[in-house]
Amino acid sequence: MGASGDSARELSAYNPEKYSSLGVLMSSPRTLGELRRSHFSEERLRNRRVKDELRDNLIARLRQRDDGGIFPGIVGYDDTVVPQIVNAVLSRHNFILLGLRGQAKSRILRALTTLLDEQMPYIEGCEIRDNPYSPICRRCREEVARLGDATPIAYLTPGDRYVEKLATPDVTIADLIGDIDPIKAARGGHELSSEMTVHYGLLPRANRGIFAINELPDLAGKIQVGLFNIMQEGDVQIKGYPIRLPLDVAIVFSANPEDYTARGKIITPLKDRIGSEIRTHYPATVDEGVAITAQEAWTRRNGHAMHLPTYIQQVIERIAFAAREDKKIDKRSGVSQRLPISAMENVISNAERRALRNDEKLVVPRVSDVYAALPAITGKLELEYEGEMKGADFVGRELIRAAIAKTYDEYFTGANVQQIVQWFDLGGEIQLSDSVPASEALENLKEIQGLTDKLGPLGVSPKESPEQQVSAAEFILEGLHAHKRIGRNEERVFKAGEKKPEPQREKAFDADERPYRQRRQFN
Ligand SMILES: [Zn+2]
Repeated sequence: MGASGDSARELSAYNPEKYSSLGVLMSSPRTLGELRRSHFSEERLRNRRVKDELRDNLIARLRQRDDGGIFPGIVGYDDTVVPQIVNAVLSRHNFILLGLRGQAKSRILRALTTLLDEQMPYIEGCEIRDNPYSPICRRCREEVARLGDATPIAYLTPGDRYVEKLATPDVTIADLIGDIDPIKAARGGHELSSEMTVHYGLLPRANRGIFAINELPDLAGKIQVGLFNIMQEGDVQIKGYPIRLPLDVAIVFSANPEDYTARGKIITPLKDRIGSEIRTHYPATVDEGVAITAQEAWTRRNGHAMHLPTYIQQVIERIAFAAREDKKIDKRSGVSQRLPISAMENVISNAERRALRNDEKLVVPRVSDVYAALPAITGKLELEYEGEMKGADFVGRELIRAAIAKTYDEYFTGANVQQIVQWFDLGGEIQLSDSVPASEALENLKEIQGLTDKLGPLGVSPKESPEQQVSAAEFILEGLHAHKRIGRNEERVFKAGEKKPEPQREKAFDADERPYRQRRQFN
C-alpha cells in the first residue's frame, strides 16, 4: 500500500508563493541568470538543505492546521507516530521507523514528499541534481564556469525526489554509492579517482531529496560504514579511492524492531547518527482497522451496486486482530494490515461472482464470502511450529471463526436466540452455499422461525433487499455456529450442534432424549 507518485504530487507541499503549478511550469526560469532574478534566488536556495525545506513546509502546514491532518491518508497514528515524526522533522533528524510488517512504514516515509516544494530547480542534465548555486559535481562546476548565467536549469517534482531501497545482504557500495568506471576514465582521459569517472549509485542520485532504506539491518556492515561516512563527512572510498561527495539528502530508514535492536546488526556509529527512533504499531481499535482497510482496499468497482455491511468489515478486520494474538502465528514478523485489505478484495469478488452468476443487481458480501477469501489470508500468516502442524487453512478458518464470534457478540450479547437454536435442535437443516441466489436463500431462511425478526441490531429490516437480509441472517447463523450452539458441515449445511452447551437452557432438547429428528432437505 502507499501513495503513488501522482498522489504525492496531488498532496504536494504548501507553496508559499501560491503559484499554480501550471503557472510555475510556464514561467519557470530556464537559465541560471533568470533563476537568480526569480523567487528561487541565490539568497534563498544556496544554503537551503533538504531538511530545512522539509522543516519549513511542515511549519507552514502546522500553522495552517488543515483538516486533512499533517499526513493525509495516515490513519490511527495521530496521537502516537505522527507527533514523533513531526518532532524528528522539526529537529532535522535522520530517523528510523521501527515496526512489524504492514504497519504503513513505507507509506509514512513516502508521505514525507508532501513536505517538499512543488518544484525544485537543478542544473539540467546533472545526474545528481546539483544545486545551481553550489554544484558538487565537476561536470556542473565546469559548466557553470563555461556558461555562467546561461547555464540551463530544469526542475524536479516531489515524486522525483524520493528514492527507496529495500536493503538486502547483497546490496553493494556500487549499488548504493557508486562505482569507478574505468572505461569512462579512459575515454575522458581523467584520473581514475576523478569524480568524472564515478558511476553514481542510488544515494547520490537521491541528492537533494529523500532517501529511504527499508529493512536497514539487512545491509552488510561495510555498506553501513559507507553510508555513515557519507552522512557524517561527505567522503567515501570507492575501490580504495577517496571520493568527496557532500550530498544533501534526508535519509530515513525502516526496520523490524527485533532485528534493529539485535546486537551487531547495526554499526554503532551509524546508530548514533540516526536522530530519532519511532515505533509504529498496528491499528489500536477495530474501527481504525476498518478505516484503513476501507481506504486501501479496492472496493469501488465498476459494474454492480454494492452494499458492504459493517459487520462484514468488522469480521474481516478481526481476523487480523485475532491472528496478531494467536500463539500459532509468529509474533516477530507480525500480521500485516495487508491481510484484511487483500481479504476484503477477495470477499467482494466472491460476492460479485455470485451476483454475476445469479444475475443479481446488488452485491452484498456474506460471511461465506469471508471463508471463500482464505487464499487471500493464509499467505499472510507466518506460522509457528504448532500452526504448521495444523496447516494454514485450518488456522485461517479458526481465525475467521473467532472473528465472527467476537463480532456476533458486539451485536447480539444478551439477545434471545433460543427459538433459532431450537429449530435446529428439533432437526431443522438448511444449506447456504456461497453461490445460492439471495431470493432462494431468503425463502429457505424464512422457514427458521424467529430468524428474520432478529436482524434489527444489524440495521436490516424486512424491507431491505433479499441480498441484505440473507447476508444478515447468515451472519446470525455463523455467529451461533462460531459459539458452537449450532453445527455446520463442510457442505455449508447448518444443523443441530453436536455438543450441548448451556445445559440449563437446552436440557429439554438433549440429543439422547429427543424422540425423533425432523429432517428437512434444502438444495
Ligand atoms: Zn552536477
